[in-house]
Amino acid sequence: MCPQWLFKPAGQMVLPFIEKVRHRAAAVLGQRKAVRRKPSREPLVFIDNIGPIRFIRRKRSRHIKISVEPFKGVRVTVPYGVAFKDAAAFVEEKRTWIKKQAMWVAEREREYAEQLRTAVPFDHTLAQAELTSRVYELSARFDLPFAKVAIRKQRTRWGSCSHKNNINLNMQLARLPAELRDYVILHELVHTRVKNHSALFWSTLNTLVGDAKALDRQLRKYHTWVL
Ligand SMILES: [Zn+2]
Repeated sequence: MCPQWLFKPAGQMVLPFIEKVRHRAAAVLGQRKAVRRKPSREPLVFIDNIGPIRFIRRKRSRHIKISVEPFKGVRVTVPYGVAFKDAAAFVEEKRTWIKKQAMWVAEREREYAEQLRTAVPFDHTLAQAELTSRVYELSARFDLPFAKVAIRKQRTRWGSCSHKNNINLNMQLARLPAELRDYVILHELVHTRVKNHSALFWSTLNTLVGDAKALDRQLRKYHTWVL
């Protein structure tokens, strides 16, 4: 067993607008009670000065993994075959680290909550229209024809391109900096020619956007959560 712990810096997250987050943000501001979670058989352990820690069983995980993320709290992923009490002992060892992350996260949560209160409403119809016309524009400019385009609310992906060359884009793209928005659109448009992520794919994309992989890294700082 090689335990590892993990922390995903939230970076410049696009505001998470889903209702659950709204509630929890409100709870942070002391405006409303936190949303009650579904009862779970997985233990919720309280550790002094840290608060509740959720232990989660994951079939595929091979290591004990601790994550501290805004609006998700402290979660410990425990592989099957490892007892919860061993995982709890591991957590106890990492107490100082967790506390440091939790403080950072609490600060981010306060920031998001504050931003939520003053956020400009997001016009879905306008976002759809803008993204669609940008796809047509870039497709024509770089001669990368596609079949259809659809703009949707997607939880986990920025975009996709089907084998029939139908392009799906995440509505949240409309909120990203223009350079990253165009990167995602061109990424999917290049998939109309190259269906995989081979060297050919990246070199083709590089001729259009410069350093595609650097843009891809920047993109990971943003949340795909819609609105
Ligand atoms: Zn791709």
